[in-house]
Amino acid sequence: SHTLGNLPQGAEPITIGPDGKPQVPAIPAVGYIEGDGTGPDIWRATKLILEAAVAKAYGDQRRIAWVELLAGEKALEQTGQYLPQKTIEDIAALKVSIKGPLTTPVGGGFRSLNVTLRQVLDLYACIRPVRHIPGAPSPVKRPEAVDMVIYRENTEDVYAGLEWRAGSPEAKRLIDFLASELGAVVDPQAGVGIKPMSARCTKRLVAMAIDYALARGRQSVTLVHKGNIMKFTEGAFRDWGYELAAEKYAGRVVREGQEEPGKLVIKDRIADAMFQQVLLRPDEYDVLAMPNLNGDYLSDALAAQVGGLGMAPGANVGDECAMFEATHGTAPKYAGQDKVNPGSLVLSGAMMLEHMGWVEAADLIPAALGRAVQDGMVTYDLARQISGATELSCSGFAQAVVERL
Ligand code: NAD
Repeated sequence: SHTLGNLPQGAEPITIGPDGKPQVPAIPAVGYIEGDGTGPDIWRATKLILEAAVAKAYGDQRRIAWVELLAGEKALEQTGQYLPQKTIEDIAALKVSIKGPLTTPVGGGFRSLNVTLRQVLDLYACIRPVRHIPGAPSPVKRPEAVDMVIYRENTEDVYAGLEWRAGSPEAKRLIDFLASELGAVVDPQAGVGIKPMSARCTKRLVAMAIDYALARGRQSVTLVHKGNIMKFTEGAFRDWGYELAAEKYAGRVVREGQEEPGKLVIKDRIADAMFQQVLLRPDEYDVLAMPNLNGDYLSDALAAQVGGLGMAPGANVGDECAMFEATHGTAPKYAGQDKVNPGSLVLSGAMMLEHMGWVEAADLIPAALGRAVQDGMVTYDLARQISGATELSCSGFAQAVVERL
């Protein structure tokens, strides 16, 4: 029941409709967190491109009213806190926000701000579309064969933060409990962690992946798990995924080997084999749904396969609220130098427009960015890998993209 402060002139909030989809007014209030380090540079570039794409697609019929949200070092300076409560409440109330990278403060007592935001706002799916941008350097022969969207579970698994240091009283108590109550033998000097995975969290994640695949006419959803070894966590993820598909999407989905025209195929792969598959047979994979740890590894591996993290977009999405973000860190050594590649945040912004239903504007962005890269108009990180390229500043690259919209 948090009320937003004064919204910019003419702006209205985004609401969530009965169908669970965002209802977006002509001038929606959208939150942004500039980010630390190179965050302000890449945010300025992103804002320029998003606004130009919206203007190109809709003239003066639609426009985004940006609402700044404080987090990270800027918040610390102005409020004394890295992540003010007001920011969390505003993100929840605004429904759609975009953020630059944030520094994880070093030292005791701090959890990563990103992890905190995901948990507090229950942004249970980490979504990473992976597609090659024509012209971008890649280590593989056919990067264009990759066109996948990863749905990574964001709240459970060994990332739940349930772990105890080797030799601590807590670890000893847990190890004693396992021995005395469950007859499970663990080295008394071991560090221990818990890997919780539930039907509820698995099913809501798999449902989001299937909804997306059906809405976009994708071919398949692959459940990626290590259920051959971890039967009651990863194996259960696979079983609950199939169960959800059969219960909720009966008639619209089929299992592998029973393909029918127009129906979405639900299949599964063991995680280690999947790392080979994405290299050897990328054409056979489309939407992927997986537990937290598998998703973390595979997201970065696939990003590298199509040209690196510098241009990989991402979003953390829950039932109500969505946060679009750069997938790399703050690159502090280049802070304030107008130098780094804004591609990741720009493409995350395009995902955000798509999420808002502003598909015409969203589609313009990857195309224009691709044309800039193909013309060799790129930032330093790509310029050093593409022969004959022109090295542009961060803002110069943004300008080159805007000119190609
Ligand atoms: P990093 O991503 O900032 O940097 C890794 C390397 O990639 C560096 O060489 C950097 O210069 C380069 N790089 C990163 N982004 C780039 C871009 N857009 N264009 C060109 N080159 C780019 O990772 P790090 O150095 O491990 O972390 C720095 C800080 O960022 C830490 O405080 C870390 O906690 C934080 N971090 C935040 C996020 C997030 O907010 N999502 C993610 C990762 C790291």
